[in-house]
Amino acid sequence: MHSLPVMPPDKAFIGGEWVASATTLKVEGPSHGETISQIARCGHREVENAALAADKAFSGQLGSWSSWSARRRGEWLLVLADAIKNDHDRLAALECADTGKPMAQADADITACERYFRFYGGAADKLHGETIPFDNGFAVMTLREPYGVCAQIIPWNYPAQIFGRCVAAALAAGNTVVLKPAEDACLSVLRLAELASECGLPAGALNVVPGLGREAGVALAAHSGIQHLSFTGSPETGTLVAQAAARHHVPVTMELGGKSPQIIFADADLDAALDAVVKGIVQNAGQTCSAGSRLLIQEEVAEAFLSRLADRFSSLRCDAGEADADCGPLINARQKSVLESRLASALADGVKVLAEGRLAEAAPAGGHFVVPQVLVGIPDGHELLREELFGPVLVVQCFKGESDALAQANATDFGLCAGVWTADGGRQLRLAKQIRSGQVFVNNYGAAGGIELPFGGVGRSGHGREKGFEGLRSFTRIKTVAIRHG
Ligand code: NAD
Repeated sequence: MHSLPVMPPDKAFIGGEWVASATTLKVEGPSHGETISQIARCGHREVENAALAADKAFSGQLGSWSSWSARRRGEWLLVLADAIKNDHDRLAALECADTGKPMAQADADITACERYFRFYGGAADKLHGETIPFDNGFAVMTLREPYGVCAQIIPWNYPAQIFGRCVAAALAAGNTVVLKPAEDACLSVLRLAELASECGLPAGALNVVPGLGREAGVALAAHSGIQHLSFTGSPETGTLVAQAAARHHVPVTMELGGKSPQIIFADADLDAALDAVVKGIVQNAGQTCSAGSRLLIQEEVAEAFLSRLADRFSSLRCDAGEADADCGPLINARQKSVLESRLASALADGVKVLAEGRLAEAAPAGGHFVVPQVLVGIPDGHELLREELFGPVLVVQCFKGESDALAQANATDFGLCAGVWTADGGRQLRLAKQIRSGQVFVNNYGAAGGIELPFGGVGRSGHGREKGFEGLRSFTRIKTVAIRHG
């Protein structure tokens, strides 16, 4: 097991101080099923204090975040990026122990977190409004202003990455933050808050209130002192959070998961497609909102491609995060049991397992492992084709031609990502335009995380955009100033 973090993991970070909550929660490492730490169990009181501290930091009463120029904010983000780089190994070890993800994935996540701070550090002083030609005698401009206190409720699947995505952009734009990490995994987030403090972030500019969704999460979403809310998690919780925010007319960004298709035509580079299909669903044990969880394969190459896919899945191994195998455990026993019962019910409906990976012999008995698997023979309209499973399970459908592929790709209420594999340029563009999703990748999948690339969903995958300059703009609002000078 890896050593515990430097900061007090059982405390909240409020107003620049580590603050004890009345009670704590045990944190279980999913690879071994053993307690690895305790975290604070924040409630109304801590959320209230955090929102107050963030408001003071924004309004200038506490610390000085609001008085920092855009350039100074950007420079500070770059200092934190360097600190994340220097602390990389500890952060990656924390992420691996806390989420169970393989070490190589944890490494990639910490690098991505660092890159968010670098990207938004560089972007902070490049965000500007416009001048607008208007009637004679007027000068009209738009100012991009920060909202103020931003609430961020994030999940357990990529704590450090999503921290980078939300916090770096919000701070770069001049906001202050109250962040509620997920109860299942938040140790890296607490260490990142500690690093931010060590790098001289003014007290209250960033506050972290760990705890349960039904306590700290509910209190934060309903708080009247927040001016913007970002949520990443399930559509069901997203609805509750958006309803709570609507009571105070707070704008929300919702990132709610997906059922993303990888569509492979017979003329595609099938070797490259095969690698991307395996990675797209096995990464993070399939617990990725943008997982490529549906394979749509053109009939004439289906048999050969599925045979190669089956070989690849049969060779996959599941093991503890620190063993750095192909696939780690699911986050907790509940997720494992929900997934297993959905798989059992699919098999009862006639669905077949084409191929599956294996548990490594040395895998810890207490880990929450579900082996990667490929499912075929899925009846039309079955929930496996429409609903997110959040596990390493790929479902396969065959299609005849382009219109058939498009109809199947769009036959879900989700719409986060899609992969299109074809050498035909016209088809690439037609599908990119007609697929109902926030991102389309042609002859690749995921663009290696694409920190610079706007990301977000349509339909049940949510709304609003994160990442890139769109993500930065979404943490500002426009003020129009019209000057009549005669
Ligand atoms: P969740 O949506 O319930 O939790 C996400 C975050 O919201 C956590 O920080 C949680 O504490 C908080 N939360 C929970 N209830 C809340 C409430 N009523 N008000 C405010 N905040 C609340 O997700 P989960 O229970 O951890 O996982 C359930 C399912 O969600 C998964 O099976 C998966 O399908 C989906 N999920 C999606 C993503 C994603 O990236 N899209 C991430 C995690 C989970």
